[in-house]
Amino acid sequence: MRAPLTVVALLSCALLAGCGVAAAPAAGPSRVPLTTASPTPSPTPSPSPSPSPSPGAAPAGRPAPVVNFGKRTGNRVALTFDADLTADMRAKLRAGSVKSYANTRVLDVLEREKVPGTFFMSGMFVEEYPEFTRRLAANPTFELANHSFSHRGFTPNCYTLGQVPAGEMTGEVARTFQLLDGYGGRQTRFFRFPGLCHDPAALAAVGAQGVTVVDGDVVSGDPFATNPKAVSDAVLGKVRAGSIVIMHCTDVNAPVTDKALPAIIAGLRAKGLEPVVLSDLF
Ligand SMILES: [Zn+2]
Repeated sequence: MRAPLTVVALLSCALLAGCGVAAAPAAGPSRVPLTTASPTPSPTPSPSPSPSPSPGAAPAGRPAPVVNFGKRTGNRVALTFDADLTADMRAKLRAGSVKSYANTRVLDVLEREKVPGTFFMSGMFVEEYPEFTRRLAANPTFELANHSFSHRGFTPNCYTLGQVPAGEMTGEVARTFQLLDGYGGRQTRFFRFPGLCHDPAALAAVGAQGVTVVDGDVVSGDPFATNPKAVSDAVLGKVRAGSIVIMHCTDVNAPVTDKALPAIIAGLRAKGLEPVVLSDLF
């Protein structure tokens, strides 16, 4: 089911861009050293364990499933952060009118507080900020997810994001997975549409990549926010067990997210809610 999202919140989200994939490396088969012995035992072929599927992996070739929240029992919630970068944003970087869209202060807060997070990376953000991406991959409390390559809309009229031609939709997802794959860390098959815009054709297209589409049930409203308290109040007023909170690590366009995070983290703890990565929410 789709959680109702306000037009304003959706619009704000649409102006930013998306996220990615993570999977724990499967343990290799244990090798038993052979000692000299007679008769030589015929080595029993150890069954090679089938690699664990990546978190979020769905059967490829079917329309991608969509989730808005996880288990409502228990006390787990997921903080998710979209790393947006569009062609327009890249042009601003090249022109020097914007210094950086990477909000490393978000990472500072999460690392200091030891709070897990799932990061939906647009491929262009990964290309622009390899150090940021390496920092995410190096931290086992963070996981990586896919937010398309160019953060264009996957439906007509997805705010001002433009539109990915139908023939490029699958490639938009695949390209970002390829980029992320080289970083290691906790990869997933979670995908978030730019602007959360999707329709049956888009779900069918990204389904070819075997992803689970993640929307969310708590919109922080951090895009273009100027008041951190408004952001933390929006989150804490709606969050409950199983919630998926949508935020951004996209600086300039979401400039106060890091300032809202300490109150959000403290508020979650006061409610007895535990932030986990998306993989641990379901
Ligand atoms: Zn986005």
